[in-house]
Amino acid sequence: AQERYADLRDKPATTLCGATIGLTMNAGLMADLPSLENSGAEGVGLFRTELQFLARSNVPRRGDLAALYSRVLDAAHGKPVTFRTLDIGSDKVLPYMKRPEEPNPALGWRAIRVGLDKKGIMRMQLQALIRAANGRPLRVMFPFIAQFDEFREARQHLLDEIERERKLGHVLPEQLEIGAMLETPSLAFAPRQFFEMADFISIGGNDLKQFFFAADRENERVRRRYDTLNVSFLTLIETVANRCAEADTPVSFCGEDAGRPVEALCFAAMGLRSLSMRPASIGPVKHLLRRVDLNEARAVIDDARESGAQSVRPAVTEWLSKALA
Ligand code: PEP
Ligand code: MG
Repeated sequence: AQERYADLRDKPATTLCGATIGLTMNAGLMADLPSLENSGAEGVGLFRTELQFLARSNVPRRGDLAALYSRVLDAAHGKPVTFRTLDIGSDKVLPYMKRPEEPNPALGWRAIRVGLDKKGIMRMQLQALIRAANGRPLRVMFPFIAQFDEFREARQHLLDEIERERKLGHVLPEQLEIGAMLETPSLAFAPRQFFEMADFISIGGNDLKQFFFAADRENERVRRRYDTLNVSFLTLIETVANRCAEADTPVSFCGEDAGRPVEALCFAAMGLRSLSMRPASIGPVKHLLRRVDLNEARAVIDDARESGAQSVRPAVTEWLSKALA
């Protein structure tokens, strides 16, 4: 499939109306990095750091993590890489960490909640990231932020670690960007100051959708019940896009849905200008985006919303079949 889109690799995802959508890739292993070149991704929009913690029987050492993150940055050849701090709990359990029995792990002690309560691991990971950057730009985002204070606190830990490294005489990142993942509906309605403080926002659509519709992403019985193109969900995406625009804060979508061409098109029509996806999806998404006018797509979406439709998918698919004919 990658072959089919090879001629698009070095072309931008620019729509007929002149909007350019940044396409980046999701990764989690060193072995994913060659795809950066092959797919034409503009960077790594989401580097999941869990695997290095999960695939072992004890906490990884700071030096080992720093070496790995450094190799990731080397392999990116200057393209931006967004590292997500440890997102454990729920479905991802560390064998060497005692955790409470929880009735609802997806709603429980996970991700940033663990990071803020057990600061040692998070601080060690932040130190590893700063050392890996070794004078290069560093982008870090914190997962599963549900309220402003969690972001403020996590961000302060990173700033404290920067200060500590400075005092130790280590080289600091040339540029530091600190972002939040928006994966809980509450964060979409956080104070304006949150959107201003974040250097960037990344919508974790897999979790956001699960919590928005109260439908377990792992449960086959319910997970397909709610369409991503449901008007309620698209309206939430629009709200986030608008709030980020008002704060002049870049926003991206990094859940699996970003890699589905029709979904990607609708997100762009709602105002998103950056999407992160598995590398194999970049070609197909770019192929569609380059053939559409977002203003037309938006008019179709707005008409469907006005008509009381539950999902805009039928209207968008029908319009596309004519527009692309
Ligand atoms: C998400 O929730 O959309 C996301 C990108 O993170 P993960 O799938 O790792 O939870
Ligand atoms: Mg998530």
